[in-house]
Amino acid sequence: MVHVLLIEDDATIRATLTRGLRDHGHAVSSAHIAMDGLRAAVSDRPDLIVLDLGLPDLDGADLLRMLRAVSRVPVIVATARDGDSEMIRLLDAGADDYVVKPYSAAQLDARIRAVLRRAGTAGSADTTVTVGGLRVDPRTREATLDGTTLELTPREFELLHYLAARAGEVVTKRELLTEVWQVPYGGADKTVDVHLSWLRRKLGESAQEPRYLQTVRGVGVRLCAPS
Ligand code: CA
Repeated sequence: MVHVLLIEDDATIRATLTRGLRDHGHAVSSAHIAMDGLRAAVSDRPDLIVLDLGLPDLDGADLLRMLRAVSRVPVIVATARDGDSEMIRLLDAGADDYVVKPYSAAQLDARIRAVLRRAGTAGSADTTVTVGGLRVDPRTREATLDGTTLELTPREFELLHYLAARAGEVVTKRELLTEVWQVPYGGADKTVDVHLSWLRRKLGESAQEPRYLQTVRGVGVRLCAPS
């Protein structure tokens, strides 16, 4: 059973989600102010935290930073705003994913399972990643799509592997520049855009008709199996 800590000040949302997540088989505890949430994160050792950004006592981004200082527990942030620079800041500040209000317990459950799946495989950087018909093997540095080998440059391979290892997760261009290009500051989003478009072409898709590479407007990119 997964223990979810819900930090949310709205009593109605808290009650609805607690019930909904319990129906999905999770153990749920909750806090309605940031400082209680921080305390519970340390003392109760939850498997995952759902963090509402609009809390009365502390800015959600500040709480996220405080959480990250004491714990690597996966955090999903819940926000009323979509696709703004705030979201990029939060993902870069250590959020693992986000949901936009209003969202259902079922949606949240899907995100929780995806985040925990990734957290569970995060330590195994050398294992083959399979997403739909896509297979990426970091040891042989071979990637195949539906059994056909993809001819990728080293950078394209790194990019594909990074995204595939985080399938379902929104990855910001900033994160890609830092992690794939190893550019600590600055660097141009354009570089990422160009490589993503090359990768798209090799995967046989386009930005207009994406299959594996989904653009999340204003935030970044998400690799997932075609539906
Ligand atoms: Ca709130």
